[in-house]
Amino acid sequence: MKWIGAHVSISGGVENAPINAKKIGAKAFGMFLKNQLQWEAPPLKDESIRKFKENCKKHGFNPEQILPHSSYLINLCSPQKELLKKSRKAFINELRRAKVLGLKYLNFHPGSHKNLISENDCIKIVAESINLALDKVSGIVAIIENTAGQGANIGYRFEHLKMIIDRVERKDRVGICLDTAHLHGAGYDIKSYDSFTRTIKEFDDIVGKSFLRAFHLNDSKVALGSRKDRHESLGLGKIGVNAFKFIIQNSLSDNIPLILETVDQKKWPEEIKLLYSFAK
Ligand SMILES: [Zn+2]
Ligand SMILES: [Zn+2]
Repeated sequence: MKWIGAHVSISGGVENAPINAKKIGAKAFGMFLKNQLQWEAPPLKDESIRKFKENCKKHGFNPEQILPHSSYLINLCSPQKELLKKSRKAFINELRRAKVLGLKYLNFHPGSHKNLISENDCIKIVAESINLALDKVSGIVAIIENTAGQGANIGYRFEHLKMIIDRVERKDRVGICLDTAHLHGAGYDIKSYDSFTRTIKEFDDIVGKSFLRAFHLNDSKVALGSRKDRHESLGLGKIGVNAFKFIIQNSLSDNIPLILETVDQKKWPEEIKLLYSFAK
């Protein structure tokens, strides 16, 4: 099965996410668990939780088909003590929100060293953050997203992802989400069948396919290896539509959330249709 969808809005309450996903013909969705631009959020209301679960059931979304994304403010390898503390607290809080909603995953960006510490030290700190958080909240799988390596962000090399996973104690509760625009920005070519196959083999050799739990499907506005993160609608960017066909036609994308974060939401229904046409 291919579970294709998009990162939908929670405006008006988290319970609207499954409704918004259904409207665009999605069989999976991404969502924030709170306003992603604020540190604090009021606890989820019982009514919201109940309606979220009810709407997921009604529209056929199981927890395996839902990939919540944590706030962009969180930096789990912050070299600044206060920010690290705040980030860990916020991350634990988001794991708890995922849990009360009956979800399975929490997707996040590994973080930034802000040019104050080395990439290696940053990797150690993020792994420690994951261990602390998984210890506090049971059940949820922490999904590390690869990055484009913009600014001082780590996670743009498969080796970074591997080093983080190596340091996580609960291997059954850590996974990877591969964002195609981030792969491209980081210099991993997926445009042709050969380059796609090479990139996936490299991922498998270094990290291991078994850790792959999701894809973010985005074209990119920027050049291969530019270390920039600029999403584009499918087929309109520098990656091109073929890469998405390779992904959909590969068993690697079976039974995991495949989430669009492309720039033009109006195109989501047709993008989802296009991706499903590749599955036939
Ligand atoms: Zn992301
Ligand atoms: Zn992404």
